[in-house]
Amino acid sequence: MDYDIIFTGGGAAALMLLYKMSKDQTLSQKKILVIDKEKKDKNNRSWSFWTNQKTDFDILVYKEWKKVRFIAPKIDKTDKLNSLKYKMIRGIDFYNFINAKLSEFENIEFLQAEVSEVKSISDTEAEVKLTAEFENKTFSSEYVFDSRFLQEDIPPKSNDYHSLLQHFLGYVIETDEPVFDKDTAQLFDMRLPQRNAVEFVYILPFSPTKALVEYTLFSGELLENKELYKVRLETYITTKLKIEDFRIKEEEYGVIPMTDFKFEQPKAKNMIYLGTKAGRAKPSTGYAFLRMYRDAESRVNAWKKTGKPHYEEKFNKQFETYDKMILNIMERNPSAIQRIFTNMFQNNSIERVLLFLDEQTDFLTDLKIMASVPPVPFLTSIKNLITGKKGQKLHQNSVSFVS
Ligand SMILES: Cc1cc2nc3c(=O)[nH]c(=O)nc-3n(C[C@H](O)[C@H](O)[C@H](O)COP(=O)(O)OP(=O)(O)OC[C@H]3O[C@@H](n4cnc5c(N)ncnc54)[C@H](O)[C@@H]3O)c2cc1C
Repeated sequence: MDYDIIFTGGGAAALMLLYKMSKDQTLSQKKILVIDKEKKDKNNRSWSFWTNQKTDFDILVYKEWKKVRFIAPKIDKTDKLNSLKYKMIRGIDFYNFINAKLSEFENIEFLQAEVSEVKSISDTEAEVKLTAEFENKTFSSEYVFDSRFLQEDIPPKSNDYHSLLQHFLGYVIETDEPVFDKDTAQLFDMRLPQRNAVEFVYILPFSPTKALVEYTLFSGELLENKELYKVRLETYITTKLKIEDFRIKEEEYGVIPMTDFKFEQPKAKNMIYLGTKAGRAKPSTGYAFLRMYRDAESRVNAWKKTGKPHYEEKFNKQFETYDKMILNIMERNPSAIQRIFTNMFQNNSIERVLLFLDEQTDFLTDLKIMASVPPVPFLTSIKNLITGKKGQKLHQNSVSFVS
């Protein structure tokens, strides 16, 4: 065996797990190879999340906010969070920090190459093959952790599950005049036409003159071209934020699957999927950072106890059902989401909504949230889930409910 463990893909999920392993006496001694086709030396994304718990990456937090804002045509609400904080970590800081930590271990090797195939040979041996460009080289190991997620891995359209995309273009912009409230993260500005998609702008201000401004859609299809994201984002900046002069310092484009498709683990126990490939992006929000962190923590705890990196995941049926219901509405009738979110944020504290979206609420609180939103779209999606049909897609601009 060439290695004890091979990681195919060395992005967020792999690095979190490696970091957790590096803190354990035994696991940190394993002979490990991490293969990634990219060098992790660019700020290719940032991760935001909200929590009231400590994480290993708190020292990397670039900025955190105690105030959160929601805007839609009939509401402009800002709440001070109670126990939670909304936090942001820059990709480059995360990569540099973990790679520096891992470089202390001679038994961990990094290889920049493209993997073409991963397969299990037996219960205790797996094989990783590189592409022809890398001479089809193969490596063997006991375990393979695979987090390569390709566009082809996005589940195809089906009647058996919902398959939407969260797609966005964000700019980090700088202005001469102070225009941003640096203490408030704006999670949603839904004052946009909902063109057969859920559309909003998300703003994370770093200072009065610098912010990440991101135009985001939840929908079945990507926009026809990248230019359209640009035009809509820049129109928002000039018309809604009324900023004429700004400098684009960084750009972030991304696509995250939003689906209730079951991303199953491979049958072979020595091959394990991580991250987006393992369905860690929450179906109704696309947030994955904390879910990957919790997975890494559980895996390492189990490994220490049992000698194997497997643990029994507790799936919360209740939240799976809510996700399905929300996806069902987003797919059938995306324009309804603006009203639903307006009611949800109007009738609940933003902290309660965030706890709900992170699956940290109890059933009674969930019921209160459900009772605070227009009932018809939810009743329709419950009917659709019970009958196993996804329901008919409503025409753009049609209004499906009164409340
Ligand atoms: C732009 C963007 C912003 C995001 N922001 C947030 C956020 O704010 N909060 C949040 O919770 N979630 C966010 N997400 C969702 C999620 O947290 C990230 O996608 C996260 O990086 C997923 O981790 P991962 O390890 O599954 O994938 P990645 O971090 O993408 O790692 C996968 C790695 O596999 C490598 N790879 C792929 N194919 C091959 C191959 N054939 N051979 C070798 N290597 C290969 C890639 O180069 C990559 O490094 C965001 C996603 C994107 C795309």
